[in-house]
Amino acid sequence: MVKKEVNTGNIPYGRQFIDDDDIGVVVEILKSEFLTTGPKVHEFEEAVANYCGAKHAVAVANGTAALHSAMYAAGISPGDEVIVPPMTFVATANAVVFQGAKPVFADVNPDTLLIDPVKVEEKITDKTRAIVAVDYAGHPCDYDSLRKIAEKYDLVLIADACHSIGAGYKGRLVGTLADMSIFSFHPVKHITTGEGGMVVTDDDCFAVSLKKFRNHGISSDPQRRKENLTWFYEMTDLGFNYRISDLQCGLGLSQLRKLPFFLQKRREIANYYKELLCQIDGIRSLKVEDYVEHAYHLFVILVDEEKISRKHLFHSLLSRGIGVNVHYIPVHLHPYYRNRFGTYKGLCPVAEEAYEKILSLPIFPAMGKKEVEEVVCQLSAVIKEAS
Ligand SMILES: *Cc1c(COP(=O)(O)O)cnc(C)c1O
Repeated sequence: MVKKEVNTGNIPYGRQFIDDDDIGVVVEILKSEFLTTGPKVHEFEEAVANYCGAKHAVAVANGTAALHSAMYAAGISPGDEVIVPPMTFVATANAVVFQGAKPVFADVNPDTLLIDPVKVEEKITDKTRAIVAVDYAGHPCDYDSLRKIAEKYDLVLIADACHSIGAGYKGRLVGTLADMSIFSFHPVKHITTGEGGMVVTDDDCFAVSLKKFRNHGISSDPQRRKENLTWFYEMTDLGFNYRISDLQCGLGLSQLRKLPFFLQKRREIANYYKELLCQIDGIRSLKVEDYVEHAYHLFVILVDEEKISRKHLFHSLLSRGIGVNVHYIPVHLHPYYRNRFGTYKGLCPVAEEAYEKILSLPIFPAMGKKEVEEVVCQLSAVIKEAS
């Protein structure tokens, strides 16, 4: 069904998988009437909503725009606080700041690096309006506990599911576990549209708000105006141009058809890594709860600093052509957050300690068993040399 790409020497940490079907679809759309908003946008939204088992999906320009739109739909505004984990990409917290609100960092669980519901509850004040859970590496958060907290304090529960499309939690798919769930279609994620993002929700009001926000805050869409033979529209709120194009959504539709294959490949690679890595001293992988089906956007290992320095391992592997990476620098340690919100080292000790140990190994659908063996072989050699 899909062509396999051949690697020559370098193994990147992630890479998109584009085949002839993807290319054909985009070429067809280039010959059609619509380049930006057209029928493919709606088709892609329906397809993702159906895939997840959710009522609505609203596609936007990228994952960050999707997070921002979700903050808007949740009514986040100046004076509000939103609880976020530190172990994530900066966009998760930035989206809160876009709406003039304050991100409040709740530390993570040391075994999974997922936001810790106990820490979340400790951070709640009378200004708290929402919780953003990040399904780090592709492992769904503890949504039962987070849901209980959200209900108890009347908060909106948002899932930053940029790592976890297709992941499962107690028999349910990601996209149905929070009030709104966010996907990114950046090339390094499970499926790509070049740049792209989506918010998935069961809530009718959220869906209306999200659609308005992506189109300048205008309350009707151009297609509808054309159908109704009217020029009239009203801008009722300040929005953005966060639209995604038909070109991108056509690619997204074609990629979505391959998602089951991508997930299967990622899970196979992760299982093979675990099998090979358990023989190596000084390395362990993150815990996977038995009630989840992991989507493995990332394969993260924890390096025992007493055995080998993570910095040395990182540099040695890179110089040997193995595309390792570090996800993430805890967001609260970035100068912007320190300066603007007074965050500091010591605020989230679990995430800070984990940050010294984490290393992301290459994982992408076209990666074969041989390449997994190559990564582990090089890893093992560097550790042996150092000890
Ligand atoms: C990729 C990513 C985003 C941002 O998505 P973009 O499409 O790059 O804007 C946000 N949060 C997390 C956790 C991500 O991995």
